[in-house]
Amino acid sequence: MITEHKPPAVQIDDLTVAYNYKPVLWDIDLVIPEGVLMAIVGPNGAGKSTLIKAILGIIQPLAGSVQIFGKPYKKQVGKVAYVPQKGSVDWDFPTTALDVVMMGTYGSLGWIKRPGQKEKKASLEALDKVGMLAFKNRQISQLSGGQQQRIFLARALVQNASIYLMDEPFQGVDATTEKAIINILKELRKEGKTLIVVHHDLQTVPEYFDWVTFLNVKGIASGPVKDIFNDDNLTKTYGINYKVAVNQ
Ligand code: ADP
Repeated sequence: MITEHKPPAVQIDDLTVAYNYKPVLWDIDLVIPEGVLMAIVGPNGAGKSTLIKAILGIIQPLAGSVQIFGKPYKKQVGKVAYVPQKGSVDWDFPTTALDVVMMGTYGSLGWIKRPGQKEKKASLEALDKVGMLAFKNRQISQLSGGQQQRIFLARALVQNASIYLMDEPFQGVDATTEKAIINILKELRKEGKTLIVVHHDLQTVPEYFDWVTFLNVKGIASGPVKDIFNDDNLTKTYGINYKVAVNQ
C-alpha cells in the first residue's frame, strides 16, 4: 500500500548563505514538521535572522533549497506570515494601528480590491486578541515598542497563514506583553499552525516551546525540546557551559 505523506512545513537542504563571500549559514539541513512551536537559538551573529530571511526568499542562498509544504516559497506566499524584528521597521509614516493591521489582509485580496467591512472586522478582532483594540486609531509612531510588536502580531494574525516566522518577538517587551504573545502563539499551535521564532532567552525555551533548533552558522541540532534541549547541545552552540549560560 502506498501511503502519501504530507510534506513538512519547512524543509531546508544543503543551504549556504554568504554576505560578501563570507558564509553566515553553512550547509544547513533542517526539517520543521507542521504544527510545532519552534525556537531558533544561537549566539549573536549565528545566522538566525538570516535563516528566517532565507526561508522567506528575501535573500538568495549561495547553494541549497528551501521548500514550504513541498514547494518553493514563491508558490506558497499566502501560507507564510512574517513578524520582523522590531527595530527593523521605520514607523515614522503617518498611519494608524488599524491601518497597519489591515495591510495584513491585502495578500488575500485581488490586486484591484480594497479591504472592505469583512477585512476591517477581522482586523478589529485581531487587535482585540492582542489587547490593542483601544489603540486602533493611534498613530503607530506614538505607540511603545511592545505595543508596536503587538500590532505586528495582529497584522500576522489576519493573514491567516499556516506558518508564522517571528524574529525576536519578545525583544524589549514587558512581562505582560510577553505572556500575551506566548499565549497567542500557543493558541495558534493548537489550531495546527507552525511557528518559527528567533528567541534569545534560554531559560524560557522549555516553558514556551516544544521544538528547538540550535544554530551557530552550522545547524547543530533540531528536534523536540524534551529530547535535545540539553547541556551538550547548548555547549556546542554557545561554547560555554549551559548552567553558566542560563544564569547570565
Ligand atoms: P543573528 O540573527 O543570529 O544575530 P544574523 O543572521 O543577523 O545573525 O547575522 C549573521 C551574520 O551575517 C553576522 O555576522 C552579520 O554581521 C552578518 N550579516 C547580516 N546581515 C548582513 C548584511 N546585510 N550584509 C553583510 N553582513 C550581514
